Amino acid sequence: MRLQFAFLGLIALWIIVFGSNRAFTFEFDGKTEVYGLNQVRVITRAQVEDKVVALTFDDAPAPALPEILEVLNKREVKATFFIIGAQAQRYPELLKEIVLQGHELGNHSFSHNFDDSQKLEAMIQDIKKCEQVIFDLTGRIPLYFRPPGGFLNDRVKEACGRTGYSILMWSLDTRDWALSDCKEQIMENLLAGLSPGDIILLHVVPQTASLLDEMIAALTEEGYRILPLSCLLSGAYGR
Ligand SMILES: [Zn+2]
Repeated sequence: MRLQFAFLGLIALWIIVFGSNRAFTFEFDGKTEVYGLNQVRVITRAQVEDKVVALTFDDAPAPALPEILEVLNKREVKATFFIIGAQAQRYPELLKEIVLQGHELGNHSFSHNFDDSQKLEAMIQDIKKCEQVIFDLTGRIPLYFRPPGGFLNDRVKEACGRTGYSILMWSLDTRDWALSDCKEQIMENLLAGLSPGDIILLHVVPQTASLLDEMIAALTEEGYRILPLSCLLSGAYGR
């Protein structure tokens, strides 16, 4: 009898340990860390088997945005835009248009200027300033923070811990910002490393605007569905 209980206990333990791990849909940079009062998660992709991905556009809003929004609208795709606070002040109507069309927002700092010399308090103020600009213009609080230039050190993590953000990186870099003269290479970068759960890094730049329709067609052709980040990461999408 006692042996049976021990066996059941072992099964329960197995379910708790492995069952909960399986429900864990984010890939961290090795460990969960605590900064400020919050656990800071560095998310690079969703761990799913379904052919689903998210398109993320950095450095919004910018003049190439209307063309990008038009393509997304035509293709009925929702994306996530990482907002630079200073750019939002410069192009407030474009920022509002992103929200009106049902896309998601991320915080990409006010200044877009993080480096090793930056003090923690300056980073915190920069992140909060961007959040305030976005809130004042749209009434939205961004869900994620992506550091400018992908610059990530312990101070950035601590600043996110203290401002309550998860850090949202990417798993597939198209290098679109550096390849204005080589659209074939951007397409190759997009398709060569593509896998389920990818968070795809793009920018609000003219070469991406003119390629976007082709990109979405190619992803669809490969059998992929494109989701906003919140759906990709929560698994809240129909199968
Ligand atoms: Zn950027």
